[in-house]
Amino acid sequence: MHSKSRLPLQASSDSPLHLYVHIPFCIHKCAYCDFNSHVRETPPWDEYRRALLAELTHWSRQAQFSGRRIATVFFGGGTPSLSPAGLISEVLQQAGKLFGFDADAEISMEANPGTVEAGRFAAFRGAGVNRLSIGVQSFNDAELQWLERIHSAQQATQAFASARSAGFDNISIDLMYGLPGQSLSDWLKNLDTAIALAPEHLSCYQLTVEAHTELALRHQRSPLSLPEEDEALEFLLRTRSRLSEAGYHAYEVSNFARPDRYCRHNDAYWLYHDYIGIGAGAAGKWDTADGGITRYSNIRSPEAYMRSSLDRAEAINTSETLPREKAAGEAVWLGLRRSAGVSQEYFRHRFGRGVNDLFAAALQPWEASGHLHITPEYVQLTEKGLGMADSIAVSVLTD
Ligand code: SF4
Repeated sequence: MHSKSRLPLQASSDSPLHLYVHIPFCIHKCAYCDFNSHVRETPPWDEYRRALLAELTHWSRQAQFSGRRIATVFFGGGTPSLSPAGLISEVLQQAGKLFGFDADAEISMEANPGTVEAGRFAAFRGAGVNRLSIGVQSFNDAELQWLERIHSAQQATQAFASARSAGFDNISIDLMYGLPGQSLSDWLKNLDTAIALAPEHLSCYQLTVEAHTELALRHQRSPLSLPEEDEALEFLLRTRSRLSEAGYHAYEVSNFARPDRYCRHNDAYWLYHDYIGIGAGAAGKWDTADGGITRYSNIRSPEAYMRSSLDRAEAINTSETLPREKAAGEAVWLGLRRSAGVSQEYFRHRFGRGVNDLFAAALQPWEASGHLHITPEYVQLTEKGLGMADSIAVSVLTD
C-alpha cells in the first residue's frame, strides 16, 4: 500500500494519513469486552456528532497534519452501525473539506448483524462507507448466547446478504475461536459457513479473558475451560491452512484477505503510519522530527469526552513522546504481525539503523530457536513463531 522507494524520517504532506472515529455506544455490554463501549438507552447522537466535528477541526489545524490527505477512515466502537447515517455522512464530509481524501480512500465501518443495523446498510453506503466489517463472532446460536451477542446465526447470514444488496463489494467477517468447550471441528464448521458466504476478508481472533471484564470475574470465581497454548496454536494453524485453501492470504497473524482486499487502515497501524483518532477513548500518533513519535489517547467516558471536545475542541486524556529507539521497538513489535514482516530498508531509512543492529540481543535467540526468519531484506515470524508474536514483542520492547 502506498509503497515508496524512500520513506521520509518525518511525515511530509505526501505521507499517508489515517483517521479513526470511535463510536462508543452499545445496546448491551458483552461479558468479554474490554473495548471502550458504553450502554446508553438513548445515545446523545447530536451532541456526539458536534463533539466529533469540533475535534476534527482542531486536528486539521495542527502543523503535523497540514496538507495531508486521508488515505483511510475506520469507524470503530462500540457499535458504529447504531449511529444515524447523517452522523457518518457529516463526519466524512467535514474530513473531506478539511483534509481531502485519496481518490481510492478506504472507508470502513464495524457493524453488528442486528436487524436494525442491517436496515441501515444502504444509508451507510450512501454516506460514503465502502467497506463493512461485520462482527459475527460465531454461526452457532449456543456460542452466540454464551458470548452474550444479541444476534442469531440466521441474522448474521441475513445481515451479510443485506450488505451485499446495499452495494458493499468489500466485506469482512469477524469470528472468534477458542471458546470454552469449542472443539476444533466446531470451529472449522463456523469457518466453513463464513467461507461459503464469500467475504473479501476475515478476521479470526482467539477469545482472551481480559482484565477488568465481567468474564475475568467469572473466570476467577469458576475457571473456564480454555485452550492451552499448543491447542490455541493448532486452531490458528488449521485456520490459516483452511483459509489458504479457500484463496485467502494470511497477511497478518489473525487477518485474511482475497488479493488486494486486505484492510489498509489496520495495515497502516502495523506499518507505524500516522493517524488521527477522534471520539471517546480514541488514540492518535505522529512521527516527530527527531525520529521518535508523539501519541495521545482521549478521555474514555462519552459524556466527559463530549464536554471537553465541545468546550476546548480536543479531549486528550494522556499523551507521550517516545524517543527514536523506543519508537523503533514499537515499529518492530507491530511490523512482525504482518506476514511480510519488517522491511530492513524501511527500517534503516526510518530509524537510521537496521533491525538487527538495533535489536540483535533480543532477536538472535528467537532466530536460533526457529521462531524468526531474518534476511537482509526482511525480519519475519516463521510458522512456529506465530504463536509467540507477543513474547517476541516483549523482548524487543524491553531490549
Ligand atoms: S458489541 Fe462489541 S463493542 Fe459492544 S459490548 Fe459487545 S463486544 Fe463490546
